[in-house]
Amino acid sequence: MNWLISANASVYDHYSSFMKNGYIDWHQTAKYSIGDTVYIYCTKPVQMIRYKAVVTAINMPFDEITDDKEFWKDIEQYEKTKKDKYCRLVLVNEIYNEGLSLTLLLENGLACAPQGPQKVSLRLNEYIVQVLNENENVFLESSANEYGEGRRQLKQHIVRERNPMLVQAAKKKFKQEHGGRLFCEICGFDFFSTYGDIGEDYIEVHHIKPISKMKEGEKTKIEDVAVICSNCHKIIHRKKPCLTVEQVKRIVKKHRKKG
Ligand SMILES: [Zn+2]
Ligand SMILES: [Zn+2]
Repeated sequence: MNWLISANASVYDHYSSFMKNGYIDWHQTAKYSIGDTVYIYCTKPVQMIRYKAVVTAINMPFDEITDDKEFWKDIEQYEKTKKDKYCRLVLVNEIYNEGLSLTLLLENGLACAPQGPQKVSLRLNEYIVQVLNENENVFLESSANEYGEGRRQLKQHIVRERNPMLVQAAKKKFKQEHGGRLFCEICGFDFFSTYGDIGEDYIEVHHIKPISKMKEGEKTKIEDVAVICSNCHKIIHRKKPCLTVEQVKRIVKKHRKKG
């Protein structure tokens, strides 16, 4: 079964909670079964499906859940649900795709803006799955010459790097450590100082740890990524296995001297 539920960021900080634990023990108000897929729609001002999760536990009383009081903005609501049952929603994907905005969901089978939990109709589910698949194909466009295991690993690498939650967290950490500035760790390129407003807050992240060395289900840690510009990122991936950040730094240093 596939469900659609809504999340209001003025009541609870879902983003930080998922980032910390990888799941949320959610107030259970529908008859979920273990293994069900739950799409989480974020209400105004976001108005799009932002997370895909899977139900891994149901009917948990309050004393069995991970206490997440720190993420509640509305403590009254938090206290209110304590006597009810909870289900565990484990994050599968964080999604950022205009295709899953309210307007397009309404055009593709959604009856009205999600409030309580609702079952996803066949038509809407087909649409959501199609949007999510197209997204994966875009990731692979630039690597059409990769096949088999190499292709699978590159795909995983890119999917991980493009995880908006990871990118956000990496940027935030980098800025905290560099006086609020965001620039390439390798060559120093700063999108904002070159492109102005349109380049503000733009940077890419590169996954340092090879996917082949990661265990099944292992989550990317913020220490596993480097914050770099698009050019350095392309250069890093020109070799298989890819170059290291240090190697590219040395290359840049050497050739800049010459110039
Ligand atoms: Zn660079
Ligand atoms: Zn990369």
